[in-house]
Amino acid sequence: MIKYQQLRGQMAALEEKYFQDFTFQNKSLLSKIAGVVYADGTSSEDDDFTLFHNLDKWLVVYAEGKYKFANVNYEGECRSKTQTIVVKPGLSKVEERNTILHEMIHAHEYLLGERLRQFFILFLYDKLLKKLGHAKLWRKIYLDGHIYAKVDQHPPLFLLKSLELDLATRQPLGTIFAYGRKEYFGKS
Ligand SMILES: [Zn+2]
Repeated sequence: MIKYQQLRGQMAALEEKYFQDFTFQNKSLLSKIAGVVYADGTSSEDDDFTLFHNLDKWLVVYAEGKYKFANVNYEGECRSKTQTIVVKPGLSKVEERNTILHEMIHAHEYLLGERLRQFFILFLYDKLLKKLGHAKLWRKIYLDGHIYAKVDQHPPLFLLKSLELDLATRQPLGTIFAYGRKEYFGKS
């Protein structure tokens, strides 16, 4: 079980470092949610709209025993119903981190709910626009249209967050998205 504790610690550290937006640790984001968070920092009561969440209660495990993948080609899987992230054992350190980051985006998308998902599309689009410029960002979004037709479960918010994580971890664009990186993303 020690190896699972290490995975757990790794996921918590990654969340702290790279998901300050989705977990609203980035306090400046709160002020952008007008009408939901008041000036004193309290938020409105709305059962459909949970602002604060994290993956503290989620499991992260290797794909072995009862957690085995149905498909041997998987490197990771987000099982939202059981709140479990499953990672292929034996990956390199970097591949393992990238796989966990990829599955964490799925997990957060699941927890955010529709309203916040839409908000974060705008937020991340704006952030990436400043970093990549309009032409380059749209090239990545347009290229993803091809991938979207082939690989479901990776909508625009997923793409935008994955590109942001590529930049944050200083890796070629398309690395965290993973699917079709060479074919569709090309050189970043
Ligand atoms: Zn995925």
